[in-house]
Parts: sequence; structure tokens; C-alpha cells
Amino acid sequence: MVLTNYLLDYKKKTKKSAKMFKVSRKLHVNGVSHNIRFFEPYPFVVKSSKGKSLVDVDNNKYTDYWIGHWSLILGHGPKVVKESLQKQINKSWMYGTVNKQTIELSELISKAVPAAEKIRYVTSGTEATMYAVRLARSVTGRNIIAKIDGGWHGYTSDLLKSVNWPFTESESSGIINEEKIISIPYNNLEESLKILKMHAKDLAGVIVEPVLGGGGCIPATNEYLKGIQEFTQKNNSLFILDEIVTGFRFRYGCIYPTMKLDPDIVTLGKIVGGGMAIGTICGKKEIMEHADTTDKKKSERSYVGGGTFSANPASMTAGFATLNYLKSKKSTYSKINSLGEFARKELTKIFDGKVTVTGRGSMFMTHFLKDGITEVKNASDAALCDSNMLQKYHFKLIAKDGIFFLPGKLGALSEAHKKEDIKKMISASENFIG
Ligand code: PMP
Repeated sequence: MVLTNYLLDYKKKTKKSAKMFKVSRKLHVNGVSHNIRFFEPYPFVVKSSKGKSLVDVDNNKYTDYWIGHWSLILGHGPKVVKESLQKQINKSWMYGTVNKQTIELSELISKAVPAAEKIRYVTSGTEATMYAVRLARSVTGRNIIAKIDGGWHGYTSDLLKSVNWPFTESESSGIINEEKIISIPYNNLEESLKILKMHAKDLAGVIVEPVLGGGGCIPATNEYLKGIQEFTQKNNSLFILDEIVTGFRFRYGCIYPTMKLDPDIVTLGKIVGGGMAIGTICGKKEIMEHADTTDKKKSERSYVGGGTFSANPASMTAGFATLNYLKSKKSTYSKINSLGEFARKELTKIFDGKVTVTGRGSMFMTHFLKDGITEVKNASDAALCDSNMLQKYHFKLIAKDGIFFLPGKLGALSEAHKKEDIKKMISASENFIG
């Protein structure tokens, strides 16, 4: 997989990481706490980060395009978030009670996201989508949830199916009732509707990302999302938009209002926590009220949200500081979106017909074309591109150029990135020989 000369360069510069990762392997399964964080021969071990950079234990500095699972839209440790968090931490970082910080964050979210008539917080995106599914089942009294081939909504057992190509094998043992999760092809409305119609009677909801993130950084067409929404409305199923990656990434708010969509439930995470643990279930009042435990019988309601650290004041404060900053400085979006545009254009140019670069705004991903694939419109197209070449390319950037993309994953930009950084990344890409 990894070209020998890049491997030698990497091993030479990451000696302490190699030693520490051996210890990590003894202590943790695969040496990591999230499967995707492992890459061959071993991931470097980070000791600090600032702005656009990560620093490893051997003191190598990397310009970071992974940027905290794409959550750090203002870069690592931005002053505005750090100062707010420091103030909060001086007061306390865990109350375990209703708190002012949560109300302040929710006021911002509910104004920016029309579907957020009611909100519940959790501490990860995985939990948010798990509760969204439970709520959809509870509201409709039905069982089946449809997701996209290649859609990633975290590790919840309710949605851990058809994530990896060819989308037919179980993703994991230990999952029961997999037949209650069905999957449909992204951006192919005709095929998707055919499948949905076959399950219409028991279909509780459809969950979809407006830009397929883990599945290849692929924007949905407006026509596709509108068609799916229309079907759910007619069928009395719920339309769930997972904006955990896309929420507040391209504009202040979600993407869906710009597409004239009207989802029943919207899940948020990542950016709205300002780099601290968060997951958010937002929804229309009449739907979220199914989670109301004050006046409903057990059989009429659904448990949604909660957890020891839900709505902890540290996450709420970091989220508030981030959104408040973005609200007052919307130019952040035009800046990072146009840098993303620049990256896509230049990468397409230098790879001269060998790649297609997908994405939107400040998110982009390079796909090395092969086997007659000329366009990437869904997760199958992405999977049929040359993923070994992409891994090699990203590894070369890490080993030779001090540039970090999590190998095989899309890159995202933050306010800390400058045009100069993109130019460096482009010239480092130019001398990649696959
Ligand atoms: N939904 C989407 C669209 C995601 O990309 C992710 C994680 N990348 C999740 C849900 C799960 O979020 P978390 O990792 O915070 O559990």
C-alpha cells in the first residue's frame, strides 16, 4: 500500500510516535479509540495543536486538513473559544443540572435552524442519530428506517448497515434487526423511490446527509432531496436530515433552507460544540413533543436525549462562542468556501484528468479515477475509484510535506487556513508520483 521511500521517510521522522504507538496498541484495541484513526504503518501521536497545525511527539508539524473530524471550523484552539472556555472552567465544567449556558446556545441554534423548534443535547453525533431514529419509530408507530448506501451516521446499531461498498455485507456482528434498516442509492431518485415504495407501509423515516461525508464528500442534488422529502410527506414517514457535518459548515445555519427543504428532524454535532463533545437532536415541536415525559404515558412517548454529560456547560460554552463568532463574522464562510473552491480547481488542474475532486464550500476530496468511472455522484462511484492511490497520496503528504489528511478521507478548511497553505498543498500534490 505505502510506497517504500515514503515509508522510510515517515519512519525516520516519527520514531517517538512508533514507540508510543506500541504502548497504545497494548492498551487500546488497534491502538485507537476510533477505527478510522488508524493508518499504516502506525499513526503519529499528537502532543499539541494550534491554529491550522498539529504537532506530534517527535515535534513534526502538520498542516491539518482533518481538523478534528471536520469539527474545528475556527482551527485548533481559537482565541475566542479558548477565552470563553477558560472563563467557564474557572467557574466549573460540569453541573449536571439545567444551566444558563445551554439556553444561550439553544437560542442561537433555534434562530439559525428553522426546524429546531425543540432541541435535545447529547454528547456525540452517534447518539443524536440513534435518538432521531427512535423518535421517528415512536412518532409513526412503524419500524423501518431507510438510509443511503454509503451513508455514515456514527456507530449506532440502528444505522450501522450499508456503510461500505458493496453495501451488502453486515458491517459488524452483534447487530440485531438489520432487516429494519434498508438502504437506497444516493442521487438516484427513481431507484430510491422504487425501494421506498416496497417498504412504504412500515417506513418510519428516511435519514440522509445533504453532503455525503464519509461516503465520499458528495453533494446531494436538490432534486434528489426534494423527491425523498415529498415521498416521506405523502407516506407519513419522517424526513431526517443529518447535518452533523454540514450544519454551520457552509453558512451560518444548515444547508437545507437554501434548498427549500422542510425536514422533520435535523441532527447537528461537530461545529455546534466548538470542539467539545456534542450531539444535537432538533425537530419540529409536534414531533419532539413525543419525547415529553411530563404528561404522556410510556406507551405514547419516546426517550430521547440525556446522558450524564449532556448539555454540560463546557460544551455549551464552546459551542456558543463558536456560533456567536460565526454569526458576527459571516465573512469566515466566504473566505473558507472560496479557499475550498480554489483547492478543488487547482487539484483538478494538476492531476490533469486523472482525478475528480468532489465537495462543496470548504470541504473537498480527491478521487483517483479508474475502471471507467468518470464522475463521482454516489458512494459506489467513490468506492470504485482507486482508494489505494488516495491512501498513498495522503501518506506521501504526511511523510514528505507535513500535510495531514486522515488517509482516504475528505479535507476540510478552517478559518486558520490561508491561501498560502492551499498553494503548498497543491505543489506538494504536484510532485506525488503514484
Ligand atoms: N453523522 C454524520 C454525517 C457523521 O459524519 C458522523 C461522524 N463523522 C456522525 C453522524 C457521528 O458523529 P460522532 O462521531 O460525533 O458520533
